[in-house]
Amino acid sequence: MTNTTNIQQNKGTILLIDDLPENLQLLSDLLIKLGYNVRSVTSGRMALKTLQVKQPDVILLDIKMPEMDGYQICTAIKANKNLQDIPIIFISALDDTFDKVKAFQCGGVDYITKPFQIEEVVARVENQLTIQRQKKILQEEIKKRQETEEILYQSRALISSVLNSALDGVAALQAVREPLTGDIKDFRCIMVNPVIAKAFHRQDEEIMGKLILRKLIYRLNPDLFNRFISVVETGNPLAEDFYYPVGESSWYHFVAVKLGDGFAITIRDITVRKKMEIELQEANQKLQLMANSDGLTQIANRRRFNEYLSEEWQRNLRQNQPLALIFIDIDYFKLYNDYYGHQNGDDCLIKVAQAITKELDRNGDLVARYGGEEFAIILPNTNIKGAFKVAESLRNAINSLAIPHQTSLVSQHITISSGVASIIPTAQNSLKDLISQADNALYTAKNEGRNRVIPSQKESMC
Ligand code: GH3
Ligand code: MG
Ligand code: MG
Repeated sequence: MTNTTNIQQNKGTILLIDDLPENLQLLSDLLIKLGYNVRSVTSGRMALKTLQVKQPDVILLDIKMPEMDGYQICTAIKANKNLQDIPIIFISALDDTFDKVKAFQCGGVDYITKPFQIEEVVARVENQLTIQRQKKILQEEIKKRQETEEILYQSRALISSVLNSALDGVAALQAVREPLTGDIKDFRCIMVNPVIAKAFHRQDEEIMGKLILRKLIYRLNPDLFNRFISVVETGNPLAEDFYYPVGESSWYHFVAVKLGDGFAITIRDITVRKKMEIELQEANQKLQLMANSDGLTQIANRRRFNEYLSEEWQRNLRQNQPLALIFIDIDYFKLYNDYYGHQNGDDCLIKVAQAITKELDRNGDLVARYGGEEFAIILPNTNIKGAFKVAESLRNAINSLAIPHQTSLVSQHITISSGVASIIPTAQNSLKDLISQADNALYTAKNEGRNRVIPSQKESMC
């Protein structure tokens, strides 16, 4: 057995099987010169032995040999699972009784007749090598494809197990476009998970592939359908809360993200959270109201008064408008309490507060309980004359209530005294000026006999 290698230019490995060493030598030398890696053996037995060790790309096999002839060797090679893919080219001498049909039947792929031309041998060998190479490439491609398919299968299995176990609804939708204009006319559902299917009381398969979105969304909110179109056309995601009462649930949060020529959407049931938010909001509003209103009379309290007065001061300052303030104090209220009792005193305060509120008709006006039996009224955009008029009308309104007050020193009924002030806010004056002017005027009203209105600037009343 000869084992010759040509490291420089290995075009393929050929195993020569021929009982005549001179035949072998000649062919082997020629093929080696052309860059092939050639091994030669002189019998079938040796051939089968060497094939166990190393496999060639092509076998050139003589027919007429002692012991085993070419057909037998070929049959033996083809019977071996590990060897059966090696292509075998028969070489037959002209004087051989060469049976081509038999050669192909026992597994040969081609044949060459002796004496041969080396170009013919090379052409036939190259033919087989090319087929072998292509076979190999094909096999590798098949292997790669199988691997990719396996990966794909695994990732599909992973995705579907995630989707099936997800608590959120997940769906993928593909745009269905108008053929002529290219406008999106609807969306086809290409994937849904069980959460979504369940929400619509359907099986996944019933929704899949259907044009469902326009019909469904248009019923709920036509504008939303257009916003989904915009997600696909602009690539900007859309996230919002959505009200859709089904069974126990009513609020959902969804996020829609562009996916190919369509979008993927995840939907979460946020009914519980939303209900809590709404309850919290209501509780906050109540709290706010409580923080701003007086517990007994339900009108604004001192805190709200201070807040509103500062706001209005700033606004009137900007608009160069007068801001008026009326301080009201019930006359001889201590005596009322002493005579009628505290409970009746409280009732009286409520009535007075209601009467004042009823009397005021301008939107920006604010009535507040300033202290025990004292009320304060803020009148934006009101000069002293206007404020005086309001105070007078309030005094009349309280008189008209005719709440008996036996122990009052000025009347048979409950009466009030008021101090009125009005200032155009500037950088030179301040809120405190307005408060103290109204306070002083009220003090004067008390001093001058009660049941009266006193303006802070008497001269400007003329
Ligand atoms: P004046 O005419 O000078 O205002 O006399 P007055 O008695 O009204 O004034 P004074 O400030 O001496 O007394 C105010 C009284 O108002 C004391 C208290 O008995 C009564 N009062 C204050 N707050 C409340 C309240 O919330 N409920 C009741 N029932 N009475 C109150
Ligand atoms: Mg008082
Ligand atoms: Mg009083």
